[in-house]
Amino acid sequence: KNWPTEGAISVKDLYVRYRAELDPVLRGLSFEISGREKVGVCGRTGCGKSTLMMTLYRLVEPSSGTIKIDGYDITAMGLYDLRSRLSLVPQDPVIFSGSVRSNLDPFGQFKSRGDGEMWEALKRAGLDETVRAYDKGLDAEVKEGGANLSVGQRQLLCMARALLRASKILVLDEATSNVDNSTDSLIQRTIRTAFKDCTVLTIAHRLHTIVDSDRILLLEGGQLGEFGSPAQL
Ligand code: ATP
Ligand code: MG
Repeated sequence: KNWPTEGAISVKDLYVRYRAELDPVLRGLSFEISGREKVGVCGRTGCGKSTLMMTLYRLVEPSSGTIKIDGYDITAMGLYDLRSRLSLVPQDPVIFSGSVRSNLDPFGQFKSRGDGEMWEALKRAGLDETVRAYDKGLDAEVKEGGANLSVGQRQLLCMARALLRASKILVLDEATSNVDNSTDSLIQRTIRTAFKDCTVLTIAHRLHTIVDSDRILLLEGGQLGEFGSPAQL
C-alpha cells in the first residue's frame, strides 16, 4: 500500500476536549491543505497547536468532526498504518534507549535492507556527519531521553526516520528552546530539500520558519484565525 499518494489533509468541524467537564480546546476547526504544501502553524501559547498535531496522529481523539487524508477518514485506518505513514516530530522528542539504528527503525522493518538506506536517510537529514563521528556509527548507543543528542539533533533523527519510511506527511513541532542556530537552519533546509515532495506542517515559534512556508495557519482560541500566504498576513 502506498497510501497516502498526495498527502492532502482535510479537517472538518473538529472539536477536541481533554475531559468531558473541560471546555473544548479545538472548537469547530476546518481547513484544507493540498499535497506537498508547507504550512506554518502559529498562534499564542495554549491556543491548541500541539493538540491539533496530536489529533492528526490520533494520540487524542476528537469529540466530533473529521480528519481525512487523501479523502480517507483517519479513524477508519489502523493506528499502526496511520502512524507508520504520517511522521510526527515532537517539540522535545523522546529517544528510545538503544542504538541510532534502533531509533531509526524501531519496528525492524528495514533490517533486511542493509545499512545503505539508513545512512542515506541520515545524510538527507544532515545528521550523517554526527553519527559517523561516533565510534560505533549506526550501532552507537543513544541514551534514554537522548542525553547525548541535542533537542535539534533528536528532531533531525525523527526526520531521518520519516525519510527512511518515506512518509508523505511530516508534522513538526518546532522546539522552543535549546536549538542552536546552525541546527535550526539545518532543520529548515531539510524541510525544503529532503521533504520537498511531502506535505509538511510546522508549528512555528520563530519568524523565519513562517517566512519559508507556502501558507500560514493562525489558530486563535482553538479556531481558525487566518489561513493565507505569508505576504497576505
Ligand atoms: P504552546 O505554544 O505553549 O506549545 P499549544 O498551542 O501547543 O501551546 P496545547 O498544548 O495544544 O497548546 O494546549 C491547548 C490547551 O489545552 C491549553 O489550555 C492546555 O492547558 C490544554 N491541555 C493540553 N494538554 C492537556 C491535557 N493533557 N489535559 C488537559 N488539558 C490539556
Ligand atoms: Mg505546543
